[in-house]
Amino acid sequence: MRIGHGFDAHRFATGRRLVLCGVDIPHDQGMEAHSDGDVVLHALCDALFGAAALGDLGKHFPDTSADFKDIDSRLLLRHAMKLLAEKGLSVSNVDLTIIAQKPRLAPYMDAMKAVLVEDLELDAGRINIKATTTEKMGFTGRGEGIAAFAVVLLNE
Ligand code: MG
Repeated sequence: MRIGHGFDAHRFATGRRLVLCGVDIPHDQGMEAHSDGDVVLHALCDALFGAAALGDLGKHFPDTSADFKDIDSRLLLRHAMKLLAEKGLSVSNVDLTIIAQKPRLAPYMDAMKAVLVEDLELDAGRINIKATTTEKMGFTGRGEGIAAFAVVLLNE
């Protein structure tokens, strides 16, 4: 077995979409980013790359490349899964934590999980997504941005 950990954070910006774990979430602000700014999928991709000893998201998809401008992060995730498959690795389970003071994410959890069931080709019982605030402390608590942690276990 192999374990991987990922972290990402993005700053809020006006006039941008808020996409978390592949789901468009109605909010007055979105994420400032070169891609669609999906912090959850970025943390997950980094956990997958970490477990597979394949570096990180920035190595595979440089934010200096016009190819990845506003790209749907699900495409990045599917590419990561392809690289894992080439190494004979499969996902055993995924645990995600989203850190956001707002918006409230509970109504979107099922849709987020459905994205991962599809893109990871994994049973829903092997995927967990949690959300927490930081009780108004720190950059997430002040509403400056959203952060996400991911932990994955891979089978060799
Ligand atoms: Mg990112």
